[in-house]
Amino acid sequence: MKKETTQDLSQRDKKHLWHPLTQHKTAGEMLAIVKAEGVNLYDEQGNKYIDGISSWYTAMYGHCNKKITSRVAAQMQQLDQVVFSGFTHEPAVRLSEALIDILPSNQQKLFFSDNGSTATEIGIKMALQYHHNIGNDRKVMLAFEEGFHGDTFGAMSVSGLSVYNGAFEDHFIEVVRLPVPTGANNSEVIGTLRKLIGEHKIAGFIYEPLVQGAAAMKIHDAEGLNEILKICKANDIITVADEVMTGFGKTGRYFASEYMETQPDIICMSKALTAGLLPMAITSCTQQVFDAFYSEEISKGLFHGHTYTANPLACTAALAGIELLTSEEIQHDIQRVIKSHEEFSKRLKAHQKVKNLRQLGVILAFELDVEMERYGDLRNRLFAHFMKQGVFLRPLGNTIYILAPYVIGDEDLEAIYQSIWSALEKF
Ligand SMILES: *Cc1c(COP(=O)(O)O)cnc(C)c1O
Repeated sequence: MKKETTQDLSQRDKKHLWHPLTQHKTAGEMLAIVKAEGVNLYDEQGNKYIDGISSWYTAMYGHCNKKITSRVAAQMQQLDQVVFSGFTHEPAVRLSEALIDILPSNQQKLFFSDNGSTATEIGIKMALQYHHNIGNDRKVMLAFEEGFHGDTFGAMSVSGLSVYNGAFEDHFIEVVRLPVPTGANNSEVIGTLRKLIGEHKIAGFIYEPLVQGAAAMKIHDAEGLNEILKICKANDIITVADEVMTGFGKTGRYFASEYMETQPDIICMSKALTAGLLPMAITSCTQQVFDAFYSEEISKGLFHGHTYTANPLACTAALAGIELLTSEEIQHDIQRVIKSHEEFSKRLKAHQKVKNLRQLGVILAFELDVEMERYGDLRNRLFAHFMKQGVFLRPLGNTIYILAPYVIGDEDLEAIYQSIWSALEKF
């Protein structure tokens, strides 16, 4: 019998595992990670990597944070899982109180699900059924070009990055698109918006507020977005803020929506919601949205539900996460990282290969201005370069971005900057 060691996880992986967003024929081996602690990931050879993207923006308070894991461990002994239809429990109730406290003030009701895609899927369903319930004939969604909202059908439909959607496009819901407001183009965008509203029966507008993550951390104009939201409100278009990436402090505020005067009707949350520990999502909404489903008629309810809805362990992780987020310590950390990025930006700005440098909160991004042909697969070479230096960054095309845990120390931040600087010299 083959001796089992952890040393060959990458080999054993190949036999049965199908990885996400991966073309297995051309992808290399999967790197086996055996441990995570604070800002560090460790592979099976014992190499250490600084997690410069917080494992897809989830582990913002550091990996295996004892303040979170101890609470979840205790909850595990008390109540592990129970049906959330007909039952409720303390972790969900306490989480609802803590979350409503930090959400924009118009948010009143929380609907649970399991991941970012289901959070937006539910946001879309709320917007469509809202109009259905009140007797409006509106079936079209409005979304930004290059937006990303997840991989389920509704979420795919509204996502503008369609390179991977070819096989499914015939089954999409109807969507019309708006360019993002950049400041310079605001009046044009508003003109397009008014035209679209005149020509289509738009039920809802879904958007990533201020930062489009999957579109390579593109940042747009708050004033322009506020103007769009105002016009949507005036036209009874339900506004759905997808804060799956931007939520929980990353933009320097609890939610990116706080940068706009006009508050959204619906907010989608996941990723850092559970502090990188367990999968869960929440779609919040206003009383007005909820009231459109509140009726003697059963069919006017939101008949959507997942088996693990409001799992007590995930709720406990989320609650611990919010307590950390709102603590003086983490708020101080966030300001420290922001300032540190600002200093590094000054250095970057002077470099001739740095293009479109941008920062919002702890998110720092820029494009590496080199001839793409010269480096064939630039993205993969950059990734390998960073990993060799013990830094996990995941460039999007020629865009390099940092979204490290708030708790990252100055030395580790410097190590990330150093690895980026050496990439600028090398490529
Ligand atoms: C990651 C992401 C999603 C999808 O979340 P999953 O948990 O991966 O399904 C949706 N919207 C935004 C803005 C995201 O960043």
